[in-house]
Amino acid sequence: MAEGAALTDPGIEPQTRVLTARCAIAGGGPAGMMLGLLLARAGVEVVVLEKHADFLRDFRGDTVHPSSLQVIHELGWLEEFLRLPHQEARTLSAQVGETPVTIADFTHLPTRCGFIALMPQWDFLSFLATKGARYPGFKLLMRAEVTDIVEDAGRVTGLKATSPDGPLELRADLIVGADGRTSVVRERAKLAVRELGAPMDVLWFRLTRSPGDTQDTMGRFDAGRIFITINRGDYWQCGFVIPKGSLERIHKQGLPAFRADVARLAPVLRDRVEEIAEWDAVKLLTVRVDRLERWYRPGLLCIGDAAHAMSPVGGIGINLAIQDAVAAANILARPLRERRLGEMDLRAVQRRREFPTRATQAAQVLVQNRIISPLLGRAATVSPPLPLRLLNAIPFLRRIPARLLGLGIRPEHVRIAASHQEATP
Ligand SMILES: Cc1cc2nc3c(=O)[nH]c(=O)nc-3n(C[C@H](O)[C@H](O)[C@H](O)COP(=O)(O)OP(=O)(O)OC[C@H]3O[C@@H](n4cnc5c(N)ncnc54)[C@H](O)[C@@H]3O)c2cc1C
Repeated sequence: MAEGAALTDPGIEPQTRVLTARCAIAGGGPAGMMLGLLLARAGVEVVVLEKHADFLRDFRGDTVHPSSLQVIHELGWLEEFLRLPHQEARTLSAQVGETPVTIADFTHLPTRCGFIALMPQWDFLSFLATKGARYPGFKLLMRAEVTDIVEDAGRVTGLKATSPDGPLELRADLIVGADGRTSVVRERAKLAVRELGAPMDVLWFRLTRSPGDTQDTMGRFDAGRIFITINRGDYWQCGFVIPKGSLERIHKQGLPAFRADVARLAPVLRDRVEEIAEWDAVKLLTVRVDRLERWYRPGLLCIGDAAHAMSPVGGIGINLAIQDAVAAANILARPLRERRLGEMDLRAVQRRREFPTRATQAAQVLVQNRIISPLLGRAATVSPPLPLRLLNAIPFLRRIPARLLGLGIRPEHVRIAASHQEATP
């Protein structure tokens, strides 16, 4: 890794620290960390820039899906990974009106793990960071916030960032935007975004989980309300789906009314709704569903939420981000190592991942428009629609949603061998 002050370049401020690498990744989320790790494992020098000081942040999804667990297995780390505290969701259930239904059964999937591992995202990302640190080509810079891209004759050649040590410029053969749904990289690169829209937002908060509570991760649908409870061991991660733009109205109705709504939807939690002591404990997820028309430009590629923000329907954003990273590493490691990366390699990544993205988003938008939207507007008690009644009555059918949610469309496998540079811990 080359490093030094570039005092001779008139485009660079004198105090700017300049780093070079083969690949520079903006964002240390699931997509950026997994790509950085896989490239470094394949012998590519890579720097990941993450704006936060650590991975400890608000809830943003704690699901590690069977196909992601399979990737970890293929890397030889599954046993170690599963020693980290987690819960295992083998089925997904819901309650529609008064009727309980089982929607998906992951136990028959042709993968090592027939369950979704529920693990705090910071534990998952820290695990990837620890594994990455084993490779000499892997560098993770925390508190390094990307502010702009660097362009040279139409090609993206670098990233500008702020860091605790002052301004930083990172030059690389490939710049990757893995900086999530509000990506600075995609905005600065002026990549065209197609908005697909979403009728809802989600309010997230926690409630204590008592020893006698059910184990199940559940969705509850009733009379204009959708409420999700995710088993996180000693607490429930709760998601309250609201019509888009209705937060102000909910705030006006007041916390007691909100608590009463929660208690009505989940009577077993009635005794602890007072734990929602202030609105600050309730975080808003503004749901966005979009995707880039083109995921790349010469020298630049976007993956994960930066290329396609997913709806929370199905809870598959993390999985897609990881699958993008695996595909990108499979396609790009070699050309990067051999310094012959071209636009067709970047196009190949989009080609590989675009269909799974489009198909998944189409299914999410269908569920949003056909199920969630009408439900949010209905005041009466609801009963399960026919597809859910069928899933409930015929257990075999539950394998279909399990496959779509647990494996996704076109699951990716690690195809690149570890380079001779692999180091022992
Ligand atoms: C409240 C909430 C709940 C969710 N629940 C689920 C769920 O249950 N299951 C699921 O699969 N998905 C869920 N998602 C979606 C999921 O979090 C994303 O789809 C997934 O994390 C995308 O991964 P990513 O790496 O592409 O982006 P992100 O996870 O967004 O990671 C981007 C990273 O880039 C960093 N970053 C951003 N800007 C910069 C910058 N300028 N410079 C440097 N670093 C930067 C961020 O700090 C972050 O670490 C949820 C999202 C939210 C917000």
